[in-house]
Amino acid sequence: MTMKIALYGTGYVGLVTGACLAEVGNEVTCIDVDVDRIAGLKLGRMPFHEPGLAELVVRNQAAGKLDFTTHAASALAPATVIFIAVGTPPAADGSADLSQVLAVARSIGKYLTHRAVVVIKSTVPVGTADRVQVEIARAITARGAMVLFDVVANPEFLKEGEAVEDCLRPERILLGSQSRRAISVLRALYTPFNRNHERVLEMDTRSAELTKYAGNAMLATKISLMNEMANIAERVGADIEQVRRGIGADPRIGHHFIYAGAGYGGSCFPKDVQALARAALAQGYEPRILAAVEAVNSAQKNKLFELVARHFHGRLAGRTVALWGLSFKPDTDDMREAPSLALMQSLWDEGACVRAYDPQAGSQARECCGERADLVICESPYQALDGADVLVVVTEWKLFRSPDFARIRLALKEPAIFDGRNLYEPAEVEAAGLAYYGIGRGRSL
Ligand code: NAD
Repeated sequence: MTMKIALYGTGYVGLVTGACLAEVGNEVTCIDVDVDRIAGLKLGRMPFHEPGLAELVVRNQAAGKLDFTTHAASALAPATVIFIAVGTPPAADGSADLSQVLAVARSIGKYLTHRAVVVIKSTVPVGTADRVQVEIARAITARGAMVLFDVVANPEFLKEGEAVEDCLRPERILLGSQSRRAISVLRALYTPFNRNHERVLEMDTRSAELTKYAGNAMLATKISLMNEMANIAERVGADIEQVRRGIGADPRIGHHFIYAGAGYGGSCFPKDVQALARAALAQGYEPRILAAVEAVNSAQKNKLFELVARHFHGRLAGRTVALWGLSFKPDTDDMREAPSLALMQSLWDEGACVRAYDPQAGSQARECCGERADLVICESPYQALDGADVLVVVTEWKLFRSPDFARIRLALKEPAIFDGRNLYEPAEVEAAGLAYYGIGRGRSL
């Protein structure tokens, strides 16, 4: 059954969700407060890089199934399902800042004229669905109206870089609500995504809200644990890459998400681990594992800088460091909490210059860092090496997997590679005449 949908927020989650819901036949109007973003989308201009998204947006826009507006009232008028997919960034104390979500709740309460299901896709602390319910009801009452509505917690699990695929073929669809009616409306909406086996998990609202945080906390824990193992490995003369393959072969552990590296970044793990920890503390529970996961990660984000600084015996002033990769992970231009930002800042603080190349995140990085003489954004990986002393690989874009080591050695003044993602075989790099530094490879200390 096709439905009329209004969706607040055209970020990574909102825009991808809106486009995928339109793709299966629904009529979707996306609302955003960012006037430039909406104007650009109307012209088919994507606000960020996400593989496959532009084609999906343009095709559904042309078919009249996907529209963009800054006017909530007109978008809500025909809608029977309303999605909230706005940001929940960290507040100063690390808790989730719910101001965007609550502003949307007030907007819904102001303009809703008929019964609808309100779906929270944003990652929100336990209890937020109840707050949204109260906020909408209050705004409806304030204008002397009577409108029925239900609220469903439907957290999103898509991964940037694979968001379209994840959205069209989700592993699970969580529906948290006490309302049978709302659940059956959403089951109908999600039918095209739930065809060959059951992906819908119904649960109570609070459990759905916590599931999202528990999932991200588990993934962040795997990363920090592997980074801790890497730090032990390099002290005891073991190679974390061999250890990774060894433990990954255990089906209880598996091969996913056990890579040591430069620390996790992005818009989700750092803020969600922190927000969950804050929520636990607020309930009088001290989250010891979450605190350790965060502490290991913030130390790990300094790891590449420490290796480079040690290589130069702490004398970095006047050095030029080439960076391959700026985004927090491959296939996205998202720079939020990217390990490259911490590395660049430390290098600049010591008087070094950076020449960086990223297949997509160059302009985002420029926006984050501003125009500065000690940052040159380059057009190709090898251009970044011109005049550089050493190379640091920060993000594991496929493009960086099989480089020409001989060419790198010739281009660098002090031929050394700092492999922040353990992409290369140390022996192969060294055979090409370069010094090799990896993460936890038994030889960095
Ligand atoms: P984002 O920052 O990319 O986009 C948020 C959008 O909401 C922006 O375009 C902003 O202008 C808009 N917005 C803010 N206030 C608004 C309002 N009052 N009305 C309409 N639009 C408004 O965010 P995102 O990365 O898409 O994340 C959205 C939510 O989904 C967050 O809670 C996040 O934790 C969660 N999430 C993100 C991912 C991810 O990979 N990015 C994955 C799963 C869940």
